[in-house]
Amino acid sequence: MAGAGAGGLSEAVLDAVDRRLLDLLQRDFPLNARPFAAIGERLGLPEDEVLARVRRLKGTDKGRLIRQIGAIFDTTALGYKSTLVAMQVPEDEVDRAAAAAVNRHPGVSHNYQRDHAWNLWFTLAVPPDEDLEASVQTLVDQAGGYPYHLLPALSVFKIGVQLDMEGGNVSPLDSAQGDRPTPASAPSARDRAFIRELQEDIEIVPQPFAGIAERLGVSQEEVLAWLHEAKATGWLRRFAAVLSQRQAGYVANGMVAWRVPEDRIEKAAAVAASLPQISHCYQRPTYPDWPYNLFTLIHAKSREDCRAIAAKVSQATGVSDYVILFSTKEYKKERLKYFVSPEEVMTSSSQSLYADAQRYMPGGVNSPVRAFSAVGGEPLFIAKGEGPYIYDVDGRRYIDYVLSWGPLILGHAHPQVVSALKKAAERGISYGAPTTLETELAKRVVEAVPSIEMVRFVNSGTEATMSALRLARAYTGRSKIIKFEGCYHGHADFLLVRAGSGVATLGLPDSAGVPEGIAQDTLVAPYNDLQAVDRLFSENRAQIAAVIVEPVAGNMGVIPPEPGFLAGLRAVTKAEGALLVFDEVITGFRVAYGGAQALYGVAPDLTCLGKVIGGGLPVGAYGGRREIMAMVAPLGPVYQAGTLSGNPLAMTAGIETLKVLAEPGAYERLEERSARLAEGLRAAAEAARIPIFQTRVGSMFCTFFSTERVVDYASAKRSDTNRYARFFRAMLASGVYLAPSQFEAGFLSLAHSEQDIERTVQAAEAAFAGLGG
Ligand code: PLP
Repeated sequence: MAGAGAGGLSEAVLDAVDRRLLDLLQRDFPLNARPFAAIGERLGLPEDEVLARVRRLKGTDKGRLIRQIGAIFDTTALGYKSTLVAMQVPEDEVDRAAAAAVNRHPGVSHNYQRDHAWNLWFTLAVPPDEDLEASVQTLVDQAGGYPYHLLPALSVFKIGVQLDMEGGNVSPLDSAQGDRPTPASAPSARDRAFIRELQEDIEIVPQPFAGIAERLGVSQEEVLAWLHEAKATGWLRRFAAVLSQRQAGYVANGMVAWRVPEDRIEKAAAVAASLPQISHCYQRPTYPDWPYNLFTLIHAKSREDCRAIAAKVSQATGVSDYVILFSTKEYKKERLKYFVSPEEVMTSSSQSLYADAQRYMPGGVNSPVRAFSAVGGEPLFIAKGEGPYIYDVDGRRYIDYVLSWGPLILGHAHPQVVSALKKAAERGISYGAPTTLETELAKRVVEAVPSIEMVRFVNSGTEATMSALRLARAYTGRSKIIKFEGCYHGHADFLLVRAGSGVATLGLPDSAGVPEGIAQDTLVAPYNDLQAVDRLFSENRAQIAAVIVEPVAGNMGVIPPEPGFLAGLRAVTKAEGALLVFDEVITGFRVAYGGAQALYGVAPDLTCLGKVIGGGLPVGAYGGRREIMAMVAPLGPVYQAGTLSGNPLAMTAGIETLKVLAEPGAYERLEERSARLAEGLRAAAEAARIPIFQTRVGSMFCTFFSTERVVDYASAKRSDTNRYARFFRAMLASGVYLAPSQFEAGFLSLAHSEQDIERTVQAAEAAFAGLGG
């Protein structure tokens, strides 16, 4: 051990004074106003020189030898619960899962990749009021849901090490627990604030406690007094420097796991713990696929040295069944951050990306509700989607119930869709000329949707509704239309009247920039209110071209039609010579293969489609009876066109999506899982005594935070949106991505497994419980 080299800072660079300084810093950092001056006095150096040496030893380049100088708190004394976790992650996913999802958690202090099937090893500690196992589960879910084992220490035989810089032995600083005073009480809110500040690396300046005091809004003396007090209560172990072990020359880190008969474990542990090269020794639980119960950590200068030490222990203890897991990557090795909530530190990548986005795009987004303004916080930036999951730029995984606002009914990146898209792209991205793909998708739509005999493809739901109503006006020769309060039909000027979705969410009564003259032909009735519709017809005889309705409202939360509502609309429009337009942009191929009209047995004159028929690419469509569709150009006088309409990639995604949906059992499966989810959410809320009104039609669902039945926009608006926002954030923190607004629909896909749903329900149980009754 003599003369430990220092990696980048070579031995030659470390003089005798450096070594004495490092020893002092590790042992006994003076807790007074001028600590570096005090160290200088002991070493016979001026304060300036001490500061210069410490700065050099800390460095910022490869020569970094001192990792951090700060308060080292006692995990147990602060009431924290901790465990080691072993995970099995596919090789090509380890970096993402580890570096991102796991590393960012403030309770993870150590995180290594090791050369074994159990290849990711990290420690997690959580504050007294948090559930350790649930936190591990969340972290594992966010990392990708891989197999894992909880390996908490059952006995601690040895812990902690001070790397010797002057040539003696490696000496344990905290050889066992129990020799420190028991703290009188749990840290108060004030204590927590002190702990949060003091656990950070101090500034290397003459008065390092001054800045801390300023941030805490107290005097420097109070900070120092608090530190002395914390030492006395046992919260503070010591205030000291932590060195980088690799930089200090201990490059091999071998975790040796031993399979020791129960009755020999204490003895074996005593032998192992007596060796200076073994820094930690614990007993941990076993599992059928992990039979090792004694863990020792060896820090040595080479793997060979590690193996030799393990062999020595094996010989001395007679335990021959053991494995050595060398760390192949160190993702994280730092002190635990106490009393910092995961949310505080875990969103930082998305936050900075969002700041950047806001400089170039209004609100940083291309569709308002994505901005999270209804739930607070900042939007996640998404890096990848796979099946029922999305992964944010920090590598965290979420069970996704937004699904790109509905289109991804097969889940993200469905292999059949992706493979067909790749092939299609290679044949050219767009031609602006007919392809058989358009006929194929049109045929599937006509065969599926009861009332559609002919269809025209466009690029969005907005275009579909706008064009369908132009057609309805042309066909009837009338100009007024009726829509329902809280229904959203895209952002065409004349439809932005008491609309739902982002408009409901943001509380904009209408949109600015819509001339009154344009809005005046749009009449509005409450959803599910047939009498109001009758009234509008009688007040506007022979002037109403069409009634447009979401047959299941999906833009003010999810509100099913009351029995008889759709049939009533059918009857009144027929009687009055107006067209009935179903906006099935959400419900088409969603609530049933034939859409809501198949589910409820009511046939409209025109139908608007979008979302699912594009399988995630921009597609919209409108269609209906042949005699009406025959009025669309080039057959008839109603003009409507599109450069990219019927685009081969979009058609391909739609065709493949519909193929999978047409397979037997698809909707039964969606129904079964959606029912389980909705029931699970309802029961979880009930158990926590949180009043909600849970709605669902097929795989569309919504949890209204409401004490009443929600049947229209007025009742939807009476929901407790603050509570929804808190629920949303709690679910997000548990790895569940819900719509960032009370007034949006939740969607399920065929990719969501029963396990995903169970996890979601568990997360909801905790989230509801956290809302308080
Ligand atoms: N109609 C309904 C029912 C919708 O939900 C939406 C969008 O959410 C639209 C129309 C507009 O579709 P797009 O956003 O594709 O323009």
